[in-house]
Formats: sequence, structure tokens, C-alpha cells
Amino acid sequence: MKPISTFGASSHHIGDLQLLRDTLRDSKDEAAIARLLAPCPIVRVAAGASVTDDRRARLYIVLSGALAVAADTRTGMADGTVSKVLPGESVGEQSVLDEETNLLSISALEDSDVLVIEADLVWQLIDESNVLARNLLRLLSFRIRAANAQLRRRQKLGEFYRQLSMVDGLTGLYNRAWLNDLLPTMIATAHGSGAPLSLIMIDLDHFKKFNDSHGHLAGDDALRTAAHVLSSALRPTDCAVRYGGEELMVLLPDTSDQVAVLVAQRLCERMQQAVVFSDMRLPLPHVTASFGVASLAPQQNDLGLIAAADAALYAAKEQGRNRVAQHALAP
Ligand code: GH3
Ligand code: MG
Ligand code: MG
Repeated sequence: MKPISTFGASSHHIGDLQLLRDTLRDSKDEAAIARLLAPCPIVRVAAGASVTDDRRARLYIVLSGALAVAADTRTGMADGTVSKVLPGESVGEQSVLDEETNLLSISALEDSDVLVIEADLVWQLIDESNVLARNLLRLLSFRIRAANAQLRRRQKLGEFYRQLSMVDGLTGLYNRAWLNDLLPTMIATAHGSGAPLSLIMIDLDHFKKFNDSHGHLAGDDALRTAAHVLSSALRPTDCAVRYGGEELMVLLPDTSDQVAVLVAQRLCERMQQAVVFSDMRLPLPHVTASFGVASLAPQQNDLGLIAAADAALYAAKEQGRNRVAQHALAP
């Protein structure tokens, strides 16, 4: 440790330090600051070594080298974010001001000289110098803004990934995870309000043969085309889901079984008209699908509704495919 009295003689200038900027303009401030800083040690920290041992509230000002600051796991904020503190910058102000233990993990990125100021001395500096107090406020305000911006970015990213995990990559339709999440809620809402809810289960016809004849990539194109037929024909309140491999599903809130059958017939017609291209030189044959329609019965849960639509779909396949069948409601 070097005594701070060598501070002026060293290559470090007080005016270069963020917190002390402009304090030298006022000779009264300057004298007070020099007196208070005199006993503060300058610690030489080797690259990789930790700066905080006892986690006491202290202010550290980097004179040379660089420090890395990572949030402590105990704060629950640790997310791998590490900020770099460069010469002239400081760390630890907040723990000094709110008298909390320093939960930051601070280490040297390279051999560094660090000016260490104990908490009570920081308060004395604040009492002595208005300029320093103002610098500190400005610094904290900047830190709060930066932390808020980072929080907003993280929230946006979290929402982005949540959405991404709910959408099927190939078709862009909602996936099974979304269905598991949302269908029970939609059913509870329908039971609560008494509004109808219909579900159409869709399975592409002879799709194995389509793949075998035209290749799996062309099969993927056909699946995308089928998904587009659904999503482009629905109301904004309806939802199209990729239930499994080549099984798709449409959820129709506020829709009776008769209307749902009409919707399914419209989708069935559009499906057989839709043109599948894997590339423009190779027009592929049309795909058809079979449709099973069911509407929510009293006390029915999500599994029951899906099973009913599945049974209707099986009937449509049995009756010759490329058609709509409706689940017969119990009399
Ligand atoms: P059916 O009319 O009775 O439904 O006959 P099918 O051949 O469509 O039925 P099956 O269940 O036997 O075959 C489904 C096929 O769907 C087999 C599988 O390779 C194909 N498939 C499932 N997911 C994908 C996918 O993501 N891409 C492609 N290209 N094919 C898929
Ligand atoms: Mg199938
Ligand atoms: Mg099929």
C-alpha cells in the first residue's frame, strides 16, 4: 500500500477521476479533499486477484489497469453480466450510500492501482465538497438509467424467447406447448361464460406417400402451404396450431358446431386448391386433408374435446379422406 500523499506525485491526477472532476476549481474544496484523501491507501491488485475481501462498504477508484465487476449470486441478479471499470471510474458508491454490504464481486482484469476510500470518509467528502456530491448524484443517476435500460432489454428478450418457444419453427403456427398452456384456459372461459368453443382437428391425407414420392423437403413445403391455408382463412380470434407431425388444429372461440363445420368445409376446399411449390420449376401436386369437428360439451375438459375431434377426424378418414366429419353430440 502506498500512502495517498504520493498521489499528487504519481501519474494520477485528481481531476481525471470521475467523482472528483471539477473539485479543484474551488480551492476550499481542493484543500479539504486533499486532506481527507491523504490517509487513503492505494492498493496494487494483481491481475485476477479479488479486490474485496471482507465485503465492507468501501468506494474503489481505479487509478490504472481495469476491474471487472459481477453481481453477486446472493442478490439473485447474477446473470453473467460483468461490467468493466476503467481508470478514473469508481465502484461501490451505492453500498457506501445505503450502508449495505458490498454484494459485488470485484476483481482485477489486469494489474491495477486502486484507491480505497472507507465509507465514513466518503460521507466526510460529501459534507466537504458540493461539487463531489453533485458528481456522485450524476453518477448514480447514470447508473440507474443504465440499469433500467438493461432491465427493459432483458424483459423484451425474455418475451421474445417465450413467444419463440410457443411457435412451431417450420409452419409458424402455435405449437403443442402453446396449446397445453392455453386450451385449458380457453375451456374454463367458455364454461364460465357459456359461450361455445369449437375445435377442428386436421390431418394431411396420404402424407407418407407424398413424402415418399416427392421427398421430405417437398413434404415440408406442403406442410407450410397447409399451415398458410389455415392461418390466412381464420378470424383474428381463431388460433391455428401444429398439433404433431402433419396434424394441425384450429380453435374457434365463440363458434357453434354448425358454424365450425362450415369453417372446416371452407378450409377443406382451400386446402385442395392450394398449390405447393418446392421451387418454380417443379410444381407439386395438391395436398388434401381430413377434418374432424367437435364442440365443447358441458363439463368436458381439454382432453375430452381433443378426443372428440380426433374421433370425428378418424371418421372423415374412414369415409374416404378430403372431407369434413362432425363428432356426434350425445343426445
Ligand atoms: P393418412 O391419410 O391416413 O393420414 O395417411 P398418412 O400417410 O398421412 O399418415 P401417416 O401417419 O402414416 O403418415 C404421416 C406422415 O407425415 C409420416 C411422416 O413422415 C410425415 N411427417 C410428419 N411430420 C413431418 C414433417 O415435419 N415434414 C415432413 N416432410 N413430413 C412429415
Ligand atoms: Mg397423422
Ligand atoms: Mg396423415
